[in-house]
Amino acid sequence: MHFSPTDPSPTSPSNAASPPAASITRDWTCPFCALLCDDLAVESRDGGTLAAPATECSRLAQALACYGAADAHCACSVGADDTDLDTALARAAQILAAARRPLFGSLTTDVAGARALYALAAECGAILDHLHGDALSAATLALQDRGAFFTTLSEVRTRADLLVFFGCQPSRRYPRFFARTLAGTGAARELVFVGCQPDPAAHGLANARVESILHDADPFDTLALWSALSEGREPAALRGAPADASASVAALQARVAAARYAVLVYEPAALPGPHAALLIEALHRIVKAANRTARAGCLALGGDDGALAVNQTVTWLSGLPLRTHVTAPPRVNGTVALDHDPYRYRTARLLANGEIDALLWVASFAPPAGLPDPQPGVPTIVLGHPALAQAAKARGGATVFIPVATPGIDSGGHLFRTDGPVVTPLAAARRVPLPTVAALAAQLAERLQAQHAVQGRS
Ligand code: SF4
Repeated sequence: MHFSPTDPSPTSPSNAASPPAASITRDWTCPFCALLCDDLAVESRDGGTLAAPATECSRLAQALACYGAADAHCACSVGADDTDLDTALARAAQILAAARRPLFGSLTTDVAGARALYALAAECGAILDHLHGDALSAATLALQDRGAFFTTLSEVRTRADLLVFFGCQPSRRYPRFFARTLAGTGAARELVFVGCQPDPAAHGLANARVESILHDADPFDTLALWSALSEGREPAALRGAPADASASVAALQARVAAARYAVLVYEPAALPGPHAALLIEALHRIVKAANRTARAGCLALGGDDGALAVNQTVTWLSGLPLRTHVTAPPRVNGTVALDHDPYRYRTARLLANGEIDALLWVASFAPPAGLPDPQPGVPTIVLGHPALAQAAKARGGATVFIPVATPGIDSGGHLFRTDGPVVTPLAAARRVPLPTVAALAAQLAERLQAQHAVQGRS
């Protein structure tokens, strides 16, 4: 059954003491983690606050608390001074036009924002990286090197009888993971946590048997052993492996082989760096081996704050994933138009080594991550959540701040869900008239094109 996106709602007698609800958006999709729960009702209340009182999700509550009455009055700024949008855009365009090696960092936006930012990057020769670039790059490296064997949330819900959680407790980052995937189905499940303690949220599931093994073991040792066993080698042939670890992993491998549908769940961001890609490769190797005789798949939990949406969009537009330098060919003759390097174009490295001369920082979701420290000679443009306004002003004269709408709060939008190809539309819950990242990026690109036309560039 489908409801109209936003229905006026009268105040019920039971909540007469509460602020009146101005509107309720039903079947609302939450944009604040990559599960994109789409079964919610969110109240937009007088005064600009938001609440989802029927939903027990700590992450959603924390995000909604970042919105309030002040958002509608949030001003643009240049340095410590408030200014109007046109002045802020003009200064931002000047910064990008003068830059030789700008970085577009954080990039927490949706599909439309990513499309417009890619076009802007092509105008000024920018490097593109995301706030969650480390986790994204680990997943991308593993995919490029060895391929992948993924499953979906729907397959987990309808088919999985054995779930192996490798080094992660999903409810810590994804509070409704178990409610959305396993609760209420009645199917018997076995949940095995490897390399960590059981997720406390899993204990409340009916028909689920929960256990943990090897919770103190080194994850690289565990996966080296397990992937060898999955390829048919005998535990005795693995010299040096502790006998008890070998026995535990061999028993787990036997259960995977006997399962109707086994799912290996991991979170790229929770795996130990800097070589998490090796662990991801090993997990997919185990799943591929299992599929010779049974059915199994991997479920990677990640892609928050638009990471998957931006990565998919940039890949679709350029053929390369994030951490790509979109060179503006007419400005730098002899260079390739696109250059992808997951190490060289890492935000932290670029900032630490002073390799950029301008920064465009995009932060449209909540709670927004903090801004990077000011760097001498690196003017910064922040297209950000209104909560960042004061932090931007405090950075001093070389920072331009323009407040933006959050997709799913003050504008519509589209995001990719954690299980990959599912693109999900977002409906605005509140509609304070803040500009979208896409609109601002398009205006900046127009201003740069006009400058280039004056300077003789096509
Ligand atoms: S689990 Fe994630 S998508 Fe679902 S309500 Fe919580 S924050 Fe939103």
